[in-house]
Amino acid sequence: MINDRPTRLIVNLDALLRNYEKLNNLSDKKVGLAIVKANSYGLGSKVISKLLYENGVRHFAVATFEEALELKEVIKESLILVLGVTNPKNVKYAVENNISLTCPSKEWLEEAIKELDSITGKLKVHVKIETGMNRIGTFEEKEILEIDELLDYPKVEFEGVFSHYSNADGENNDYDDYQTANFNRLVALFKHKPRYVHIENSAGTVKYNDRDDNYNLSRIGISLYGCYPSKNIEKLNKLELEPVASLVSKVTHVKRIPKGTKVGYGISYETSEDEYIATVPIGYADGLLRRAQGFKLNVAGEECEIVGRVCMDQLMVRCSEKIKVGDDVLVFGEYNNQKISVDEFADYQKTISYEIFCCINQRVPRKYYLNNTEL
Ligand SMILES: *Cc1c(COP(=O)(O)O)cnc(C)c1O
Repeated sequence: MINDRPTRLIVNLDALLRNYEKLNNLSDKKVGLAIVKANSYGLGSKVISKLLYENGVRHFAVATFEEALELKEVIKESLILVLGVTNPKNVKYAVENNISLTCPSKEWLEEAIKELDSITGKLKVHVKIETGMNRIGTFEEKEILEIDELLDYPKVEFEGVFSHYSNADGENNDYDDYQTANFNRLVALFKHKPRYVHIENSAGTVKYNDRDDNYNLSRIGISLYGCYPSKNIEKLNKLELEPVASLVSKVTHVKRIPKGTKVGYGISYETSEDEYIATVPIGYADGLLRRAQGFKLNVAGEECEIVGRVCMDQLMVRCSEKIKVGDDVLVFGEYNNQKISVDEFADYQKTISYEIFCCINQRVPRKYYLNNTEL
């Protein structure tokens, strides 16, 4: 069989490596920890993590324990932190595989310690401090002191303490300051001293690179993949990120249809004159959602509006008489000197780049380029 469906997600690994370098170099006190959760925001965590590892990155984080085990297949001596809550029954596998777990509460740590009784080896934990996001973690001083007591247990290694900014991409820093103050106050309660203290995401990493603090890791996600967390962060002009992902396809059909002809499901579009309509094999089953109707794709350098409803596997655009079968289509990213930013594509659909990336279905092949050569 020839798999000739031309829809694919191109991942520029050179750009990704340069983004990592730039983010990591923002501060000489903090090491960049690569967030590779959710399959590296949909771009493919095995290839990306292996590449980062081969280029010296030794700090990674994922959302789930399953994602951590997958990483173990491609990277060796590194910190791999599971950011979400892991079932304490998995403590055995965490110890065996040298995976660090988040401790979200005293109860969780008690359960984990029970599991450790029958195991040799040490469990590495990062205690999650609740400072304002109100997702997981503990904010009560009493509970923190109790966790600190439990950390006396010899099979537990207090590897880190961390929190998470909920508005670091916002218009001002007031809420960050509130969270930072909470964090510093609560971290100071521990008599045990952890190796790592961390609170920054991409937005915090960019904003607070020269802040005087005691943190030594910054958790970089979306910026590694070439996007600013928000316009507020982009406007700071602190660094130039390069787009990493480009969603592309090719025209599979073109026709000229007369004025007054309907196009697509729901007959939501009618031609207002004789028009050329091109069909592109990408639809909502690929992650190009119905809400993108009306957005202008780039077809062989021409801006072409998506007309009619986006179908499951295909969509139609209005184009000029110059467009022919086989012409390149760019949805977002950079391709053949054409460019559409993923933020523009996301803004149009009232969402964010994070969601666009994560929604690209596994049906779309990922094509990796390093030194301008396909891997
Ligand atoms: C996803 C996540 C990050 C990364 O956030 P970005 O905005 O993509 O940099 C950092 N920390 C935690 C706890 C996360 O869940």
